[in-house]
Amino acid sequence: LDTIFNEAVDIMDKLEENGYQAYFVGGCVRDSLLKRPISDVDIATSAPPDKVQQLFPAVIPVGVMHGTVIVRHLGKSYEVTTFRVDGKYTDKRHPDEVEFIQTIDGDLKRRDFTINALAMNREGRIIDLFNGIDDLHQKVIRTVGKGIERFREDSLRIIRAIRFSSQLGFFIDPATLDDMKVVAPEITQLAVERVRVEITKFFGGRHINLGMDYLRSTELYKHLPVMINYPYIINKLPLKLFPLKDFSEVVVLFHYMEPAIPIKEWVTDWKCSNKEKWNVKELIASIDYFNKNGLDNWLVYCLSSAHIDAFIRLVTNLYSAENIPKRSKVMSIYNSLTIHQRDELKINGHDLIALFPSKKKGPWIHKTLKMVEKQVVLNHVANKNNELKDWVKWNPPGTN
Ligand code: ATP
Ligand code: MG
Repeated sequence: LDTIFNEAVDIMDKLEENGYQAYFVGGCVRDSLLKRPISDVDIATSAPPDKVQQLFPAVIPVGVMHGTVIVRHLGKSYEVTTFRVDGKYTDKRHPDEVEFIQTIDGDLKRRDFTINALAMNREGRIIDLFNGIDDLHQKVIRTVGKGIERFREDSLRIIRAIRFSSQLGFFIDPATLDDMKVVAPEITQLAVERVRVEITKFFGGRHINLGMDYLRSTELYKHLPVMINYPYIINKLPLKLFPLKDFSEVVVLFHYMEPAIPIKEWVTDWKCSNKEKWNVKELIASIDYFNKNGLDNWLVYCLSSAHIDAFIRLVTNLYSAENIPKRSKVMSIYNSLTIHQRDELKINGHDLIALFPSKKKGPWIHKTLKMVEKQVVLNHVANKNNELKDWVKWNPPGTN
């Protein structure tokens, strides 16, 4: 067993001691067999959710209706989900009702792909009812059961197929691929929040270019927010993409493919959070500045450590190799900056008011500070109170 499973074995033991079955399931089993880093360990059990809540001291009942309880153990979270079969997905969001069952078989059958329908007990023995291990070896994504039915039940699985392809470098079984094409128009009915999770993972995949081939050939993009209105945008993307991390980076990439589409449309239709909207704004401002001025202290300062990597990922997609600044270069500029944030400036609003006693308080203060900030960052003036005051005297604020 992977060490990551060892930490979770206590949870399995507790369930088994109380007469219930328990298995590791889904992504963690798949990734452990692939020797990939495991993101989270999920457990499936015959214990009903209220029992799970009673058995463990620290639980978060996130989705008791659907059988999921988060168990906190040794500082980590584990999703413990009762064996279940899903009802219909009439609202295309969640199954209307789920039925809890007593055996793992039915629980594995409801899962999307054979490689995701593997279970493992605490000794490391694998349950593989649908030849998932074969498919892992052959690097194939194949639905559990008939694709048409499984995709009609939940069309998010179509997007998940291309995201696993992008993450794992796996091919999609030809029959599954045909069925994806047939059901693809139904993805317009999905909750955008669910779609975004998969699309973000898709663009983050190491094998994004294989994924892109499938995104194109299935014509799935024609049914995604915004792209539904501008399907030609797919042909503007670079032929070779590099992985992105955050959804805001995906928006920024697409923005530069077709700047005529209002950015508002992207962030609204994809239901971006305020944080993401802010990231999008900052990254676009940085890239626009880079286009005009190239890499300088001011750009690196404005990027701040939070956006440096996103910026590099984006320019890597937007420019040819010789024009892409190296991370080491950006970092060395960052480390050489005289100041890293506004409050390190050795002059403040009070100084300015004292320098210009006849001026009424107003936006000029903020504006002047911003100018001084830029001068300091560009090393045009030293960050010393007296020198900054002198600079301001020679460059007095305008009349506004
Ligand atoms: P990741 O490493 O990205 O978390 P994962 O395989 O764990 O990959 P999750 O979205 O966390 O993916 O889902 C956990 C498991 O639940 C999957 O492996 C799969 O067995 C099942 N599953 C998730 N979503 C669906 C779905 N829409 N339809 C059927 N089964 C699903
Ligand atoms: Mg997971």
